[in-house]
Amino acid sequence: MLQVKDLHAEIEGVAILKGLNLEVKPGEIHAIMGPNGAGKSTLAKVVAGHPDYKVTKGSIDLEVNFKKKNIIEMEPEERAREGVFLAFQYPVEVGGVPNAEFLRASFNAICRHQGVDELDPLEFDEFVRERVKFLEMDPSFLERQLNIDFSGGEKKRNEMLQMAVLSPRIAFLDETDSGLDVDSLRLVAEGVNKLMSADKAVVMVTHYQRLLDYVVPDYVHILVDGKIVRTGDKNLALEVEKTGYEGII
Ligand code: ADP
Ligand code: MG
Repeated sequence: MLQVKDLHAEIEGVAILKGLNLEVKPGEIHAIMGPNGAGKSTLAKVVAGHPDYKVTKGSIDLEVNFKKKNIIEMEPEERAREGVFLAFQYPVEVGGVPNAEFLRASFNAICRHQGVDELDPLEFDEFVRERVKFLEMDPSFLERQLNIDFSGGEKKRNEMLQMAVLSPRIAFLDETDSGLDVDSLRLVAEGVNKLMSADKAVVMVTHYQRLLDYVVPDYVHILVDGKIVRTGDKNLALEVEKTGYEGII
């Protein structure tokens, strides 16, 4: 589904990713851990197509209509339409944009791309309310402006709502668990599990073993200084908990 090969990327002339390899197949859950500043968010943003980052070497291949396509030259919105999703570590506040409108515009852009009927406001309202219920969120989220005056945890929950509405093929969740209380963490984890299916994949960036108790990853990768230095199963996360990254490296 996604193949990242020898990826090198920089921001403002500073090299951040230095030869990163990652392969994600449909139905898989990957966790990426690593010290602060290692390049975890950079990886997620480069795959999503953040314009501030420059890829200097390597490839990012996404399976599109059963063909491998290098997405590096694609605009972020094109990647999103092909099913790439990023839940931001720091979700952006957008004043004046009602959350429900934002979700409907995004959802319909994907419908248009896939050649299926768009939903009108009433139809979408019914659909989005069902999604809100599915995630056990408060419906008032929909009427509020996008992320304005949301608490840290609410912003993270709202990123999950976007995922639940857009139903991406491959989702990067960048520390979606951080800043959540125990109940919210459980709901986010349940959301991820319920949204996963055999034709989808999730890559979770996390610092905490706690999330991985709920969402069991097929692979755990340790990212240090722009490269994945170790890959293992869920036990690798337990090892990190015990020895810290120092011990792993
Ligand atoms: P992580 O998510 O693993 O904590 P990031 O991917 O956010 O790390 O950041 C990787 C590195 O990139 C950090 O050392 C950070 O300081 C650096 N970085 C981020 N933005 C810029 C920038 N605009 N200019 C220079 N360095 C940057
Ligand atoms: Mg980060």
